[in-house]
Amino acid sequence: MMNIIIFAIEKNATMKLRMLLLTVLAIGVGSSVFSQNNAIRKCATMEHWNGKVAAEPSLQQQWEVEEQQLQKMLTHAEQARQTNMIYTIPVVVHVLWRTASQNISDQQIQSQIEVLNEDFARLNADTGNTPSVFKPVAAATPFRFCLAQQDTSGNPTNGIERRQTTVSSFSTNDNMKSYATGGLDAWDESRYLNIWVCNMGGGILGYGEFPTAATSSTYGLVIQYNCFGRIGTLMPSYNLGRTTVHEISHCFRLSHIWADDNGTCTGSDYCSDTPNQGAENYGCPTFPLLDNCTATGNGVQFMNYMDYCDDACLNMFTNQQSLRMLNAMSSYKPSLLTSTACMPPSTGISPLDQVFNVSVYPNPSEGVFNLDMFLLPSVVGDLQMTITDQLGRVVRTEALANPAGRILPVDLSGEADGVYFMKLSNKDVNRTIRLVVAR
Ligand SMILES: [Zn+2]
Repeated sequence: MMNIIIFAIEKNATMKLRMLLLTVLAIGVGSSVFSQNNAIRKCATMEHWNGKVAAEPSLQQQWEVEEQQLQKMLTHAEQARQTNMIYTIPVVVHVLWRTASQNISDQQIQSQIEVLNEDFARLNADTGNTPSVFKPVAAATPFRFCLAQQDTSGNPTNGIERRQTTVSSFSTNDNMKSYATGGLDAWDESRYLNIWVCNMGGGILGYGEFPTAATSSTYGLVIQYNCFGRIGTLMPSYNLGRTTVHEISHCFRLSHIWADDNGTCTGSDYCSDTPNQGAENYGCPTFPLLDNCTATGNGVQFMNYMDYCDDACLNMFTNQQSLRMLNAMSSYKPSLLTSTACMPPSTGISPLDQVFNVSVYPNPSEGVFNLDMFLLPSVVGDLQMTITDQLGRVVRTEALANPAGRILPVDLSGEADGVYFMKLSNKDVNRTIRLVVAR
């Protein structure tokens, strides 16, 4: 036990932990307190952003103009309707490793995608820990994630690429985002959300780049390798994948819930349903937690993903955060919301595949689609239609005999809102069309 404690002191020579050590020794509690406190969450999003603004001051002006536009959109009634839509965003994970433990497994990466799909949908197992006073504003956001199934050239991929690097630790200067500086280049940011997983220096657990209308080859997020996913090589306290949930939210334009205003209570995270908060919180506070900005009542929302508490104590986004993310992404990265890189590439090799020509309208639809095969040459022959949902469950199969020259209705009005994939195939052709049901 002494070895563990001495190691912890050397790793974390802050006054706070020294005090904690003395307290622990004094009251004779075991070393478990240290395993819960052996790192302090540090997100470098603002440090990274301030660095970009210092190099290019017009970025701040652009941010403010965009912010005014966003605020107008937030009052736009039509946005409420759009929240029924689900957007599945293709992700590519770039793993940069120097030691074997940094080369995290495919399974660990997959576990992170699962966390994202739970937390952004509010299907996480710990929603019951959200204090009841905050439950009315807790949101299921419209975002889902997949590992990309086709690369930038249309070839099959598992959405993961790896590189052994000589860089022992990276910083917020974006070197991990370029091959020339020991990293891996971004995939087309208009079609993929880029995530770099690497070893960060300075105790940084990650950072995200805010979206703007301008194209950026560095857009995406960076995550410390042992805070990524929820199985495998993981740091205590940050072992449930919530660092990535937090950093993606910055990429979707959420600010920290305390607004980085140095405790003055004058800043805003631009979300009216998050209480004003003075500073970040750590560990796992007990509800209600009052501070200098919200000194009475229900206190601050320390369990929000945009605070700094331990992964096990974060469990919610709010409705305004969800709407803000949707408005920002619809405005600045619309092509990412409609990217088809989650679908496997067509594997058709027959010349018939090249004359395959069908269209579907309306799409999105409230449930009934028209499958238009007027331009489909009759030589293509009979087709098998299979429709699956985002989880791969088959919701419809149908044999289409001699479909060329016809328009067939496809009725999904009995299905929930969301994204579906319609596969049309026979021995010669294989096509998948993305359908969106939105009411
Ligand atoms: Zn952050």
